[in-house]
Amino acid sequence: MNIELMTRYRKNIEISVWMLIIGIGLFVNLSPQPVVQQSQTILNIVILTVTAYTIVYYRFVAPRWSTAELILSSILVYTVFVFLVAHFTGSLQSVLFSLVFVPILITALMLGVQALLIVVAGEVIWLVTEFYFYFLPFHPGISDPHILLWEKLIAILLVSFVAYDNSREIFTRQSEHELLEQEKETIRLLQEREDAILQSMDDMVLSLDTNKNILIANDSFAKTLDISQNEIIGKNYDSLFTIKKTNSVGDAIETIDLTTITTKEVEDNDSKETGPTNFRLQTLNNDKQLFVTLAISNLTVDLKDKETPNDMVAPGRVIVLRDITEELQLERMKIDFVSMAAHELRTPITAIRGYLSALKEEATTSLTPEHNKFLDRADIAANQLTTLMENLLSVSRIEKGAFNLDVRKTDWVHLIGQRVEELANRAIERGLQLNWEPPKENIPEVLVDPLRVSEVFNNILSNAINYTQKGSITISVKYEPAEEIVVTSISDTGPGIPREALNHLFEKFFRVSGVLEQGSKGTGLGLYISKEIIELHKGKIWVESTFGEGTTFSFSVSTIHNLKLRKQFEQENAFRV
Ligand code: ADP
Repeated sequence: MNIELMTRYRKNIEISVWMLIIGIGLFVNLSPQPVVQQSQTILNIVILTVTAYTIVYYRFVAPRWSTAELILSSILVYTVFVFLVAHFTGSLQSVLFSLVFVPILITALMLGVQALLIVVAGEVIWLVTEFYFYFLPFHPGISDPHILLWEKLIAILLVSFVAYDNSREIFTRQSEHELLEQEKETIRLLQEREDAILQSMDDMVLSLDTNKNILIANDSFAKTLDISQNEIIGKNYDSLFTIKKTNSVGDAIETIDLTTITTKEVEDNDSKETGPTNFRLQTLNNDKQLFVTLAISNLTVDLKDKETPNDMVAPGRVIVLRDITEELQLERMKIDFVSMAAHELRTPITAIRGYLSALKEEATTSLTPEHNKFLDRADIAANQLTTLMENLLSVSRIEKGAFNLDVRKTDWVHLIGQRVEELANRAIERGLQLNWEPPKENIPEVLVDPLRVSEVFNNILSNAINYTQKGSITISVKYEPAEEIVVTSISDTGPGIPREALNHLFEKFFRVSGVLEQGSKGTGLGLYISKEIIELHKGKIWVESTFGEGTTFSFSVSTIHNLKLRKQFEQENAFRV
């Protein structure tokens, strides 16, 4: 690790060493001191040798060798130098010798405390040896050995300071570097974790830039396309797949652009299923077709204060595609089953009803009153069963998208009048007052399928009659010229509907639990079918209710002056003049 450190900061150390070498070179060649001038040649040779040694040491030895090798070699080099120079000069030119020491000292500092102690011990031995040499007989005549000794001490201090200062800087940088490395590692781990989440998701995840280029695609998406993730990234999505909006029957209606489609379009469902809109994903290379739902979120990146290249942070979108093919198939099987069962049950129920009515007609007089009561109950139950079967068939038709309208210009007030008349008796039987006053104003004809809309009106009015214990039921019709619609309202003084139930009233099989539910024998399908029929007419249906006071159901249909709708019905082949 430390060797790696040395390699990285070699230049710093080298620069210091070179500065010392140059300084000492100048000192050796310019000093007026006789003792220095005397051995100038040999000193210059020593400087050159030290220079060569420094190059070899930093460039080749230090970066490659192990700690132990470095310490041993340093001690060896150091000793050889001491003895060689002492031998040739008869003296140890202290400042010069310190040069040999610089790389060794720096290395020692970097290698750790043990290495440093060894080198310092070496230096002390050197100092003592040098002092001893001054008193050798072949000494070339140094006037005052103590001066040289002081000079040597100063040199050692100087070199030690350079070594210390260098090492300190290097260590500071090293700790900064390590911190950075740690941060990098943390970021890498975070990225890995995010990537793992993304890759292990069952849903297909895709990120696009504004030009439809794929920035990210997860494993699940790559598997669907049967292409590796690397091949997908960067490609324009048009070259890999198309996404089409589907209708309730699963037919593709229009190709959509994933970079511009709005969240509202993705969430709003104008097909018959509740929940988000369904789309069809068609892959181009392996020709796969999947039904999917989409979840879209925009990629917004604040480019301020960021030096990242623009193309890396281009705003775009993240799209999550959920494969619902199997769910849809299951749903379809369910609908088919219900439709088949209801269809098959129709014939025996018709037979039962037929025989019951024949029995009622012919055997009433011969039966006891109690047996007649049984017969009546059987007849009521058979009628309820028929309604249920009819409702189930309607629901399956709606869900298959096979519920067709036969729209005609209709006199609305007349139609409502007839329906009220049909149900008036039932209201009277239950002791309810039925208020119906045709509006005085002139109401234009409306665009409706009279049979279907009658079904809606009958259902709402029957509910009002069934669920109201006492009081009255008021029917009103109002023309709204601004929107070219006619709004029909049925108000009752019944028990009202609890607030929490209001939002679910138009859902399949929903019935208000409690007293209401027990008292009546409904199916919970009437309002669902009514809503679907009114929506097929492009109208609206809603409810207002105060619990304990009463309920008002209203629905709107368009007048013949709504030319846009008329045209639409004509195009759908639903309109007959
Ligand atoms: P059902 O066959 O049960 O009548 P609907 O879909 O027609 O099915 O109605 C759903 C539920 O809404 C009913 O079960 C009833 O609880 C409630 N409801 C409908 N109309 C009224 C009303 N006028 N007053 C009170 N509750 C009503």
